[in-house]
Amino acid sequence: MTTDAAAPAFDPCDPVAVAQALIRCPSVTPEDSGALGVLEAALTPLGFACHRLRFEQEGTAPVENLYARLGTEGPNFCFAGHTDVVPPGELKGWSIDPFSAEIHNGRLYGRGAVDMKGAIAAFVAASARHLRDHGAPKGSISLLITGDEEGVAINGTKKVLGWLKEKGEKLDACVVGEPTNPKALGDMIKIGRRGSMTAFLTVFGAQGHVAYPHLADNPLPRLARMLAAITAEPLDGGTAHFQPSNLELTTIDVGNPAHNVIPAQGKATLNIRFNDSHTPDTLLAWLRERFDAVGGAYELEHFVSGDSFLTPPGPLTELVAEAAQAVTGRRPEYSTTGGTSDARFIKDFCPVVEFGLVGQTMHKVDENTTLDDLTRLTDIYGAVLGGVFDRIG
Ligand SMILES: [Zn+2]
Repeated sequence: MTTDAAAPAFDPCDPVAVAQALIRCPSVTPEDSGALGVLEAALTPLGFACHRLRFEQEGTAPVENLYARLGTEGPNFCFAGHTDVVPPGELKGWSIDPFSAEIHNGRLYGRGAVDMKGAIAAFVAASARHLRDHGAPKGSISLLITGDEEGVAINGTKKVLGWLKEKGEKLDACVVGEPTNPKALGDMIKIGRRGSMTAFLTVFGAQGHVAYPHLADNPLPRLARMLAAITAEPLDGGTAHFQPSNLELTTIDVGNPAHNVIPAQGKATLNIRFNDSHTPDTLLAWLRERFDAVGGAYELEHFVSGDSFLTPPGPLTELVAEAAQAVTGRRPEYSTTGGTSDARFIKDFCPVVEFGLVGQTMHKVDENTTLDDLTRLTDIYGAVLGGVFDRIG
């Protein structure tokens, strides 16, 4: 049963129509601007139980999120994504209004067309078609949609997952619809990503006159030897699914304006992008071992932006790869390259891979996707749904 207010003005089986309705909501992060309402209007009549989840934290804007589930049985297959978009930037640079969702020459234009309202529209259309063609699934289909991915990502997926855990909701497998394909649909599935840790080293000595070095203790030779020690050899040679970890020195600071004064301390900052052969703890131990070998007083602080993670090739990766190959004729590469996504939170709950549209115009002016790609992505997600309840348990 639907009310007039809840009835969508579009066919939920049509990914182009759903994408247009989403793009017409100017949901520049963290604004919702009606985007989740579009999804609720599409999903509720299909039988999804929709939960709107509003989270806020002191100092951050409140954010709307949506968890929608069809069915109560397991396995629970989840499509995850975000309806917030980055700002359009200089409107002068756009050929069309970024929120008008116009179609020209077989392409749908607008902010979020590829990152990632197009993919969310394909989630909806694939689910609607699955129900139309096969009836209720032998399990559950859920959508976990946040309005806080492009921003600080504090009030989004991470908190929705906490809410799910409290409710005893279990996810069994998840596909995130980020635009993973560099050039053509079917290029690439992301099966994990590297971790990122930043470390701040301060080496201490005693200030003094350069002419009386025996009365001082210059920390800079020790700082130089420590930095030489950690850059002398690579951290590793890469692993089965990851490129080698990489350590970059990003700054060395003494800030000593006097040529005749031995400074009391020197500092350096470094960032490590690390693969699955390390954790932040093993990296800190690796750094300390080399710093201790040099000796002297030092302080090491750090923060971790994310751990590395991997969904090893298995039923989920194979299912998505086969579906992409069946529709596009291309066998996607498994990759762990690139920046962050909400998959870094979901990986603690279930196997997760990322596969979406072609990323070439994401975050750019005239962001667009071909209508053909939208249709084919819907077919790919549909093929994933077709196989998921047989193969993911
Ligand atoms: Zn995105």
